[in-house]
Amino acid sequence: MVATGTCGVDSVSEIRLDARQSGVRAVYVIEVRGRGDATEVAKLFRELESHVQARQLSSGRLVSYAVEAHAADSAILDAIEDVLRDSCAFVIVHRVFDDVAVRVLTELCRETGSRMMAMPRCGICGKPEPFPATSVILSNGPEAPPIDRGYCARCTAVAARPTNGEFVRSLLAADRRGFGHLAEARFERHPSHRSPVRFRVGL
Ligand SMILES: [Zn+2]
Repeated sequence: MVATGTCGVDSVSEIRLDARQSGVRAVYVIEVRGRGDATEVAKLFRELESHVQARQLSSGRLVSYAVEAHAADSAILDAIEDVLRDSCAFVIVHRVFDDVAVRVLTELCRETGSRMMAMPRCGICGKPEPFPATSVILSNGPEAPPIDRGYCARCTAVAARPTNGEFVRSLLAADRRGFGHLAEARFERHPSHRSPVRFRVGL
């Protein structure tokens, strides 16, 4: 049993549910010749911020990014690949984010002395998940730091329920951090917030 720390039912006053459409993904692994190259690559992903979500996965000699684009805009993943191949000598592209991509990247980083960066994991299955399909944010006023739990598309689908309230309960009940007791609390929907959905938590 994992301790829930400050996140007992009596210390969470608000729960926010943020769900998003998952898109298409790619992992780009780029060998850089120095800081200048790494800065250029970072600049490329920063410039694309309004079109794709990008998360850096490694730094050092191998710089890598996981990228997610809207499903209707998958051509942008090809365009990123073209730009990188034009400007960098060594580029590997994996067109999904999965266990194989993480394993290959981990191995390449080990061989080249590059550093894997901390990666968020699904709160239910524990797999690395750079772009959670659903996030549940537990908070207790502006003073305390909120707890952000992200869930992958597969676990989100398993936890799906007809109403948002039931959906949050089912996610929290399945969360490996042990929020099952919180799922029993009374939730009161904030009427003014449609997206993200907010609930006040009562005892
Ligand atoms: Zn999961």
